[in-house]
Amino acid sequence: MVQPIRDTIKKRGSVKVLERAALGVDGVGRICYFKADEEEKDEEEGNEEDATPKRVEAQGEEARSAALASSHLVSCQPPPPSLRIVTLPPSHFLLPGLVDTHLHAPQFGYTGTATHLPLLEWLNRYTFPSEARLASDLSYAQSLYRSLLDTVVGQGTTTALYFASKDLAPTKLLVDLIHAKGQRGFVGKVNMDRHAPEDYCEASASASLAATEAFLDYVLDVVASPLVRPVLTPRFLPTCSDALLQGLGALARKYAGREGGREGGRGGATPGLHIQSHISESADQVAFNHRLAEHHQGESRDLPVFERCGLLTPLTVLAHGIHLSPSELALLARRGAGLAHCPLSNFFFGHGVLPVRKVLEAGVKVGLGTDVAGGYSSSMLSAIRSCVLASRALEDGVEEWRHGEEEGDREGKKEGGKQGGEQWCKEGREGMRIDWKEALWLATMGGAECLGLEEEVGSWAVGKAFDAVRVDVKKGGAVVVLEGGGDSAEDLVEKWVNNGDDRHVLEVYVVGREIKHGGWEGGGGGAGKGRPKTQK
Ligand SMILES: [Zn+2]
Repeated sequence: MVQPIRDTIKKRGSVKVLERAALGVDGVGRICYFKADEEEKDEEEGNEEDATPKRVEAQGEEARSAALASSHLVSCQPPPPSLRIVTLPPSHFLLPGLVDTHLHAPQFGYTGTATHLPLLEWLNRYTFPSEARLASDLSYAQSLYRSLLDTVVGQGTTTALYFASKDLAPTKLLVDLIHAKGQRGFVGKVNMDRHAPEDYCEASASASLAATEAFLDYVLDVVASPLVRPVLTPRFLPTCSDALLQGLGALARKYAGREGGREGGRGGATPGLHIQSHISESADQVAFNHRLAEHHQGESRDLPVFERCGLLTPLTVLAHGIHLSPSELALLARRGAGLAHCPLSNFFFGHGVLPVRKVLEAGVKVGLGTDVAGGYSSSMLSAIRSCVLASRALEDGVEEWRHGEEEGDREGKKEGGKQGGEQWCKEGREGMRIDWKEALWLATMGGAECLGLEEEVGSWAVGKAFDAVRVDVKKGGAVVVLEGGGDSAEDLVEKWVNNGDDRHVLEVYVVGREIKHGGWEGGGGGAGKGRPKTQK
């Protein structure tokens, strides 16, 4: 079992792989019991005496796991008829559901292509036409979004923060489909009233704001699900007039504290509207912002404009941020806003690498995002791996070997070493590396913190929702598992993180409801399976 943990002194998150642990889920999908082997000596302070578990998950040596489960069941004698005990085989483990803090649902159709252009040209040639098509062809939108949801849920993403498109009908459709699928989804109708193609641009700030309010009311009052939430979504500074950004800030204030959902609110999240956008993503975007300063009271950077318009709150998640200054990071930290780190798309469009360690040390919340389709993979495993690679490139430097005759090219570079007639130069930054455990923390608990869901999901704790991924590393062919138990539990998790894929994801749960079942017949079955789901 994988348990995200935080070192509050070092401001670092990581994960601990528990060899033996037991977890109980009650009839409404909440964790009512959690015990790891290492915690046995501690006095129990949980409230499991009051809980009536339907299911106990255990991992590791079978007899040991059964003993852990039995110690809990003593308080539940006779066991309730609905109780199901599941002992996971050694090749299985449970992982808190993965949280994708940035992806564009309309772009899913061209995932894996069109990565050869600079950002602004890519938007005009691929992104805007693909988003525009959704409103004129809702059957296409339905098929695209169904495929997207099946794919990302199948990959273990239990929570996602979506950009949709500017149009109301396909965006409402995405909300409906997420609700039906049972994923935890945050969905934004995109706002954009300038610097976009004529046929894919909102007519005015007021028209954009009216459509946004209609969307908010639809999600909050009609769908009214505790799992699906609306998000204010100014695309990015170049496509949003100052009047539009100010109007969105007014909407954020108007809806502050408003609960959504007929079944008890927002599932543990802080009240208020979520807000998302892109910030300081690429060199061409930064340059564009400079040219727009006269339209934003002389301000040439995007973050201060968002601040002035009231769009920086503890529920704001901004994608990228790789060109933010130290003072801008400090502002983000003061406002409690988070960054969605999208390392894969940054390699193509960002002209830089986010110094994640530095951002965390500045007190800014960080989650991971796939940034479909700027990132060519919708899998959070890909985001985790890219995060590790990007941090290594940042720490070690990326200069090539230089030969003597190229010496003039090295001007301004730090000389790293010499060997014979050749030299190598690099500009690494010490202490920047993020290892796989830290990246996995970012993909679970880090994302939960960004969305204000840290008390609800992201790790195992009594009272949290059972949002979980069950992995069998033997299910697919890409993970090498040593026979005879040669791998430790930690080895198996690391092997999956580095080489696994959706074939190993057997089951996916959101609030105890199983939303993917991969066909394992070893006695699983869903806790809360058949539990009444939220209905409109
Ligand atoms: Zn994006």
